[in-house]
Amino acid sequence: MIKKDKTKLLNIIFVVILIIVLYIVFSLFKQNNFNDFSKAELYAHQSVFKRDSKVKYSKNSSYKISSEDFNDAMLHKQIEVMPNTPYKVTCMVKTENVVTQQEISTSGALICIADTVEQSKSIVGTNDWQKLEFLFDSKNRNTIDIGFRLGGNEDNAKGTAWFSDFTIESGVEDTDDTWDVACFIIENIDVNIDGENIKLHISDNDINTVSQNMERFKQSCKTLSSNKLDINYEMYRVVEPLNSLSYDEENGYFVAPKNVENLIDSVVSQKEYDHIFVVVRFGNNINKSAIKVNDWIGLGGMDYYGIGFSNIRLPDNEASYLYQYNSSINTFPEEVWVHEYLHTLERNQKEYGYEVPALHNNENYGYWNQRLVGLYDWYKDYMRKNIVDKQTGERVGILEEMYTHKPIHNSNFTYSYDKTSQVFKEPSNFIEEFASIFTTIGKSFSKKN
Ligand SMILES: [Zn+2]
Repeated sequence: MIKKDKTKLLNIIFVVILIIVLYIVFSLFKQNNFNDFSKAELYAHQSVFKRDSKVKYSKNSSYKISSEDFNDAMLHKQIEVMPNTPYKVTCMVKTENVVTQQEISTSGALICIADTVEQSKSIVGTNDWQKLEFLFDSKNRNTIDIGFRLGGNEDNAKGTAWFSDFTIESGVEDTDDTWDVACFIIENIDVNIDGENIKLHISDNDINTVSQNMERFKQSCKTLSSNKLDINYEMYRVVEPLNSLSYDEENGYFVAPKNVENLIDSVVSQKEYDHIFVVVRFGNNINKSAIKVNDWIGLGGMDYYGIGFSNIRLPDNEASYLYQYNSSINTFPEEVWVHEYLHTLERNQKEYGYEVPALHNNENYGYWNQRLVGLYDWYKDYMRKNIVDKQTGERVGILEEMYTHKPIHNSNFTYSYDKTSQVFKEPSNFIEEFASIFTTIGKSFSKKN
C-alpha cells in the first residue's frame, strides 16, 4: 500500500513539474512570438525585442523595443499591396525616454516602409499611449516592407517604445488635376554657424516678389502643361525665426523638412497640401552670402512626410532681376518655382515605374538657356511630353497621369477598406496562440534551411 501511494505521489509531482515546465516554455514563446514580424537592427544584438503582457494597450501583448544605446531597431513585415493605391497604417505607441542622436531629427518611434525615406511622424520623449498614423501610396509596388521602428532612416534613437493595435486600410486616389500648394516665406533667420550668429530678415519688397511669382507660377503651370495642371496656392509669412539649417557637400546650407517642421506643421497638418515651397534669404546687399551655399537658387525633390518640398532662395542682391519680370531683361522670373516643382513630378514618375528625362538633361536634348525666357521651351516640352528622344524618335517627358497622382491625405480614406484582419491578424484565443507558436517555430526552422 505504501509503495502504491509513493508511486501516486511521484506521478502527481511529475505532472505538476510538467505543467510548470510547459507554462514556462509557453510564456517564453509568448514573449518572443512576433507573429510574422522580423527583427532588424543597425547594430546587431544591441536592442531588445519583447512581447510585453504587462505594458499593453489592449488584450494582446504589446511589441516592445528597447535600446540602451543609440540604434536603429525595427520590427518589419512584408505585406501585399495593390499598385496605385493609398494606404493608411496606424498603431498605438507608448514611449519612455526616447531620445534621438542628432538634435534636429525625424527619428524616434515611428511607422515606415523599410529601405525607403517614407515614414510617419516620429514620437520622442515619454508619452502615454497615442495613435500614430502613416499614409502612403503603393505607386508601382505589389509588396512593401512595413516597419514599426525605434530609430530612423537618417538618425538613430534610444529608449523604449511599445507598439500595439496595428491597423491597415486602403483608400481611393483623388484623380483631379488640382494641386494645392503652400508657400512659406521665412521672414527671419537666426542661426549659429561655426560659432557665428547670423540674423537675416526678409523685406516687404521680397514678399511682393514672392507674391508675384507664385501667381505667375500658377499661370505658367497651366500654360506649360497645356491645361493639364491646375495650381491653387496659399502664402504664409512665418515670423518666428528659423533656428537650424541642414548642410551637405553638394549644396552647402539649405532648409530640410526637419528644420522647418516646428514652424510650418501647425498649418500643414490642418490642410491637405500637395506641394510645399519654403522661401528664404541667406544673405543681402550688406552682408553678402552670409550663409554659404554652393550656387543654388532653388532645391527640390525633397519630401515632407510624402508631400513634395522645395527651397527657393532669394538673391543676395535685392536689385537683382532674377525674380523680377522685365520685358527687356527677364520674362520668366518664376522659372525656379516651375523647375523645383518639376523635380517632384520627375521623382514621382520614376517611383511610379516609368522612364523620365532628367530635368537637368536639357542640353542633351538640344535645349539651351535663352535670353529673356531661360529654359521656358524645355519646361513646356517636358510638361507636354513633347521632347524628341533622338535614339528612338519617341516623344518623352511628364506623363499626363502624373498630374493626377498627388500625395495621399486623410480625405483619400472617406471610402476605405479595412484590411487589418488579413494583414495584422493576432491570435484571438489560446488555441490560435498555441498554433501560431508552432507555425512560428516551423518558420524559423525553415528559414535556416
Ligand atoms: Zn534642379
